[in-house]
Amino acid sequence: MPHIVSKLLVLSLFAVVNTAQALTIFTCEPEWAALSQSLAPEAKVFSATHVYQDPHYIEARPSLISKLAKADIAICSGAGLESGWLPALQKRASNRQVTDGADGMLYLAPFIETIGQHETKFFSTEHVHPEGNPHFHLDPERVSILAEVITQRLQLIDPDSQEQYQQTLIQWKKNWQNSIQSWQQQASQLKGQPVVVQHTSFDYLIDWVGMEVIADLEPAPGVPPTMAHAQSLVEDTRKSQPAAILTNWYQNDRAADWLSGKTGVQHLNLPATVDLKGEINNLERLFDHLLSQLQVAK
Ligand SMILES: [Zn+2]
Repeated sequence: MPHIVSKLLVLSLFAVVNTAQALTIFTCEPEWAALSQSLAPEAKVFSATHVYQDPHYIEARPSLISKLAKADIAICSGAGLESGWLPALQKRASNRQVTDGADGMLYLAPFIETIGQHETKFFSTEHVHPEGNPHFHLDPERVSILAEVITQRLQLIDPDSQEQYQQTLIQWKKNWQNSIQSWQQQASQLKGQPVVVQHTSFDYLIDWVGMEVIADLEPAPGVPPTMAHAQSLVEDTRKSQPAAILTNWYQNDRAADWLSGKTGVQHLNLPATVDLKGEINNLERLFDHLLSQLQVAK
């Protein structure tokens, strides 16, 4: 009897492997890896960057080239975020499926409205966000739109599994809407609170929650904090007593510590994206974590 059971088990395992044609998905940032994995649970998903890396600047290493060479689809933020390294990867990977304009190369920025486009006009060419702020994974509503965009693209390149992707999306959206409701409750208690930042990493979340950025430790977006600039923020920070000074895990946060020491305002070091190898390994957990940390700070 146990023999028959184990034979059946082997057969059914084979059936699962045979029906699911696992796609290989290359993502530029971990947030899209996490989202893609939720929308295509069978897929092999890889992220070019991780939470401790600055996604604006990475090296086009050989290991990344070989990952891109094998990909069926590449999913990236766009809006210039990867312009310093992705073109070099695409060139060396010479994989026609993921060149610009191909169905397998999905830039997400064109499908949503980016914020911060207005300010960029005042800055010089060294600005890192010429097409607006590309860190839009921190707005739950935009993520919801992009889940549909990703699903549609997966259906296009993997038409045999269209129905499966549709069902997965429907379930995902249900769960996501429930999460949004509980995040909205947390957000309502943070509304109107001032905050100091270092770069525009958290701007979409800050906007969504209704908090207000009163100062940025970066003198201009993408330009590292300087002592002179940090000193110029002391008075305003003391006066407006923000909920926190925010930095993210890949940043040098000495300036934030210094400003915190001068003003008594708490410095919060938070992940700007999911940590695929840690506990905060999907977008739900990321929002849970960020909102509860902000809650404690206020
Ligand atoms: Zn940025």
